[in-house]
Amino acid sequence: MNLWLQENKWQDVEDYLKDNKTIIVPCGSVEQHALHLPLGTDAYISQKVAEDVAKKTNTLIAPPIWTGWAPHHMAYKGTITLRPETLTSVVEDTCASLIHHGFEKIIIINGHREANLAPIRIAMTRLRNKTAAFLAIADPFYINHEKGKELNEVEPGGIGHAEELETSQMYYLLPDLCDASKSSKNIPASHRLLKHDPLVEGDHFITASDVSTYKEKTKGTGMMGDSTKANASKGEKYHESLVDNIAEFIDYAGKEIKVKLRNNDIPL
Ligand SMILES: [Zn+2]
Repeated sequence: MNLWLQENKWQDVEDYLKDNKTIIVPCGSVEQHALHLPLGTDAYISQKVAEDVAKKTNTLIAPPIWTGWAPHHMAYKGTITLRPETLTSVVEDTCASLIHHGFEKIIIINGHREANLAPIRIAMTRLRNKTAAFLAIADPFYINHEKGKELNEVEPGGIGHAEELETSQMYYLLPDLCDASKSSKNIPASHRLLKHDPLVEGDHFITASDVSTYKEKTKGTGMMGDSTKANASKGEKYHESLVDNIAEFIDYAGKEIKVKLRNNDIPL
């Protein structure tokens, strides 16, 4: 059986469902990633993590959801953003289709850290309440927090966008699409209650970005944080830890979480 659902015949999926009810859904974003990383970074990361987890756990992967919610990145050319309602609908209908066929456990790998979470959580909560399916989001900031803290070498505020950790992961996974000579550092001064680095402990407000402020803050490069200390070996460690955590959870969910589906209608 192929790892990706779309590369199989329908009867292969029927056979798979006889003894495995779990599927992975990679969800990314196509958005500017400063001068050194490609627009597809978040989507590629979700797909590469999904592939490595799938190989380790013999789990099928649904076709990737390439685009996410990235309005502030429209400040730079090439970014594509969905409205959050659209992303919620795409995730909800994709998962509802899978649940209709009998998939009971869905692991969504979110490559667009943080930003995609609200729209995906709405879809997940609706599906859980309606169908009783088990859904979980693996977001690198939450599922790999400890490894991120261990590997992090940049100053507080250095983890933002196109920063040390995701840059390292891209240098490891897809070096040919990166240009390390253009990595940079941009950590704007901010009030102590407005720190957005997820590795910085402490109290902070949540605020919204807009295109013009974002362009100004990222100094016309799209960079937020510090990517100058990124390297492929750090990326390999970060990636492997992410894969191990998700694989461990899929094994646990497969064995321990019991689901009895109901109302698994076709999305109409
Ligand atoms: Zn990213």
